[in-house]
Parts: sequence; structure tokens; C-alpha cells
Amino acid sequence: MYDALTSRYTFSCPVRGETRVTLSAFRVIERLPGAAHPAVYRVTFRCSCGDEHDGLVSHDELDWAPLGLADGTFLNLMTARTEELAVELGDLAARRIQAGEWPWSFFCYPEERPRPVFPSSFFLLSAADRSIGIAVRCPACTRVSVNLVSHTHVDVPFHNDPEIGVVRQLFPVDLEPMLEEFRAFLGSTDFDARRLDL
Ligand SMILES: [Zn+2]
Ligand SMILES: [Zn+2]
Repeated sequence: MYDALTSRYTFSCPVRGETRVTLSAFRVIERLPGAAHPAVYRVTFRCSCGDEHDGLVSHDELDWAPLGLADGTFLNLMTARTEELAVELGDLAARRIQAGEWPWSFFCYPEERPRPVFPSSFFLLSAADRSIGIAVRCPACTRVSVNLVSHTHVDVPFHNDPEIGVVRQLFPVDLEPMLEEFRAFLGSTDFDARRLDL
């Protein structure tokens, strides 16, 4: 499902059969109730066919595979060479995390501080020309912040933008009302123009 060499997830597409997308092509990430070990997430993603589709990813694929730390089916499906690479990536990622580097981060507006985060805490994403809006459920305080970041901030682990756009507004924590507010907010004004008065 996730290919560490290209940083892309593979999903099925009704038009193309198969499609490969980056994390920043995800639009909604929603944890499914029930399945806990491992947790399963339903994602809605923007496909290169021009449509949006749904797919399923496990917690491992979402948070650990981009770091080369996933095991199980991910490694078993790969060739021996890729497996070595994955192990090396995993070692490297583990060392960087131990050294205090964050694979992903966001700015928690209610707490007024940056926080480390994993992709499973991103729950809504929306791309504009140069930036991407992400709604993040804070793993520490559970409240929701909307940040504006670069695509690489989302897609490349350990790439953290030196400056993150922070929307100075409190958002609902539940998916449905948040989805409405997020869409209204993004549709209300030009993304980059909004960014200037954050
Ligand atoms: Zn498609
Ligand atoms: Zn917080």
C-alpha cells in the first residue's frame, strides 16, 4: 500500500484501476470505529483522474510506513532489497526521533505552541496552489487547529516548515460540523490572501 521509495500510497481507482497518491492528496482521514488492533482509517483522497475516492489504510501504514518503520505485510510484500532499505530508513528515523527531531509537527492554536504529531491526527486536508490547509486534532489537548503548510511539510517526514500559517480561530472537534466549517472557511477567501493576516 505505501511505497517508501516514492512516498506514495496505492489505492484502487474506478477509472484507472490503480492510483498512487501522496499523503497531501488525502482530503479526509477518519478512524473507523471498532477495529482497534490495528486501527483502520478511511481516507478520502484526490485522485489523478480528477475525482475523489475512498480507501482504507491501517494505522501502521499511515504513521509508520513513511518512516520505514512499518512491518508485517508492508515488508513481506517488498523485495529483499527494499526490505533492507526499509530497515535502514527505520533505523535512521528512530535515531532522529530519539535526537528530538519531529517527523511531523503542527501549531496547536488553543495551546499556543508547536507540537509533534503523526498523520493519523490530521483529519482534513485541502490543497491550494502553494500551500495545504490541514485540520489537526491535537494528540495532547484533543482540540482542533487549522494550519497552512507546504506540501513537503506533509509529504516528507522530518521536513518541517520554518514558518507555519496558523488560523486564529477555534474549530469544532467533531468531524461533521468541522467538515462544514473547514469547507466554508476554505471557500470563503483566497488561501494565500488569508495567509497574510494569520
Ligand atoms: Zn481515480
Ligand atoms: Zn493542543
